[in-house]
Amino acid sequence: MAAMDVNTWQRSAARRADLGGGFNIARALPSAARRSVGAWCFLDHAGPAQFPPGAGMRVGPHPHIGLQTFTWMIEGEVLHHDSLGNRQVIRPGEVNLMTAGRGIAHSEESLGERGVVHAAQLWIALPDAHRQVEPAFVHHPSLPVADADGFRATVLAGHAFGRRSPVQLHSELVGVDLAAEGAAGTRVELDARFEHALLCLRGAAQVDHEPIEPGTLLYAAPGRTRLELRCDAAAQLLLIGGTPFPEPILMWWNFVARTPQEIQRAAADWNAGRRFADVPGTQLARVPAPDASALRLKPRAAR
Ligand code: MN
Repeated sequence: MAAMDVNTWQRSAARRADLGGGFNIARALPSAARRSVGAWCFLDHAGPAQFPPGAGMRVGPHPHIGLQTFTWMIEGEVLHHDSLGNRQVIRPGEVNLMTAGRGIAHSEESLGERGVVHAAQLWIALPDAHRQVEPAFVHHPSLPVADADGFRATVLAGHAFGRRSPVQLHSELVGVDLAAEGAAGTRVELDARFEHALLCLRGAAQVDHEPIEPGTLLYAAPGRTRLELRCDAAAQLLLIGGTPFPEPILMWWNFVARTPQEIQRAAADWNAGRRFADVPGTQLARVPAPDASALRLKPRAAR
């Protein structure tokens, strides 16, 4: 691959995906152009959307292995249930971190007959040394916030603006929500060892004069020490970054692994009711794993 200019922001488009029941999200990671940003290997932007009665986010019990799910709630309320017996409502300004490790199952459903949903859901690939850990779930009701020249900076992961997120991770990562309710401009200091990406969640902004709007991911290779962020009206962005993930990973359905055999085993275990315990407390139907028998994927280097 040609050496990448660290001064260039590379643009990739999010694609629409259906989470089930017609609930559409914009999937910014992975894409053909970009598999991951640090250990962040999946990024769904849900909403902002009004949902009619009986709709909204309704994802029945499904399993995960080899990753952490990281949910950042912006508007609306979603009820989480998992196979460890946790029942947790996540509200705006809160983070849910679920560590799948060797295996967990969960469900997610919008609360209320009708309402609004706006959230970012990310996955974090677990490094080999930690990917078989016991499953766990932690709810973070508050994250550190800094004022950054008219942007409200919420430090979701890692360290930024002199604040440190309490979220426990297994790789060096950063995640910051930047929200302005009017025209604003600020400089964000970056860790030069990290690659970074920005997703616009609402409004529009300029990143080093590069325009960004919802549906576009801007990516920069390691080597940057800062970025300039500007908006002319209310806007909200998600900044993520991390040291490039050193291990090739295999992602299929809800699993992050290293070999097709691991994926096939996890899919078979889920469909046969092994390994993953039931998810108590939800009325939603279990989501069966697709047929993994013909899987011939090779682990892909992070890029
Ligand atoms: Mn899930």
